[in-house]
Amino acid sequence: MIPGWIKRVSVVIPLYNEEENVEELHSRLSSVLTTQPFDYEIIYVDDGSTDRTLELLRGIASEDAHVLVLSLRRNFGQTAAFAAGFDFARGDVIVTMDGDLQNDPKDIPRLLVEIEHCDLVSGWRKDRKDPFLTRRLPSMVANWLISKVTGVELHDYGCSLKAYRRDVIKNLNLYGEMHRFIPAVASWYGVRVREVVTTHHPRLRGKSKYGMSRTIKVLLDLITVKFLQSFSTKPIQFFGPFGLASGGLGILISAYLTLRKLFFGEHIGGRPLLLLGVLLIIVGIQLIGMGLIGEMLVRVYHESQKKPIYVIKGIIGKKEK
Ligand code: UDP
Ligand code: MG
Repeated sequence: MIPGWIKRVSVVIPLYNEEENVEELHSRLSSVLTTQPFDYEIIYVDDGSTDRTLELLRGIASEDAHVLVLSLRRNFGQTAAFAAGFDFARGDVIVTMDGDLQNDPKDIPRLLVEIEHCDLVSGWRKDRKDPFLTRRLPSMVANWLISKVTGVELHDYGCSLKAYRRDVIKNLNLYGEMHRFIPAVASWYGVRVREVVTTHHPRLRGKSKYGMSRTIKVLLDLITVKFLQSFSTKPIQFFGPFGLASGGLGILISAYLTLRKLFFGEHIGGRPLLLLGVLLIIVGIQLIGMGLIGEMLVRVYHESQKKPIYVIKGIIGKKEK
């Protein structure tokens, strides 16, 4: 059963050149949502489409009071489009999905049932209908890597069909191509994540907006997420050990060479080891320096913007005024 506290649901859908899909999408989505026990709004975010997407959305909005259309000035990318939608969403639960009919609106109620037991429900395209070599294979590798590195174990990070409790979304800041890492980022806040198997359809109309190059972007974002997850409030702890190891080894090597020069009168000027020693010392100083600059940035970031380094779920007992 869909939990009683869900009074309103916001569905956020990014659209970039999906003129062949919007009308079908809206009718399928509406047919699911109108039969539900909650009120709803659909937020279509037109991500700078150059085809008739926006025009069609205008038509839909003029006929359906549940619809809000956000039109971005240019193509900012899927993550930014989601973020824009989140800023306007007023539902108790916010559902995201793709606008190309690859996700099935019929799965939405199942996500909402599951969210009773957690804060974020992620779709799992178990039987995914995308080309194997260019899409599913890179995804498999990426999913495995992301779950190992972030420690949030999901089968399918790339699935756009997700449901979030309102407060999860309001605590998030999204950058780059980060939307697939929301579960990982949110887990930092102690958000409980669950997975639901969802239907996936092949893309029948319109073109996919991504190719193999996305794999590299995902990899780089993964590094960012991992770093932020583990060391964002203590960068010296990340850079420091490498700096100490490098600097320490450099000093040992240099001391050894100095001894040979002083006591045995050896010529050390042409020895490769000398270069290595000097290099390691410089790298060590650089790394420690980076850690210290990072520490200063953390303080500037948190103190100037009053950003907490913790998240409170609730307060129990009397609060003194
Ligand atoms: N999309 C977007 N902005 C972009 C790229 C994609 O809003 O810059 C939308 C697109 O219209 C679709 C969804 O994001 O609704 C997923 O895109 P796509 O189907 O191309 O990705 P795939 O399913 O191939 O991973
Ligand atoms: Mg798609």
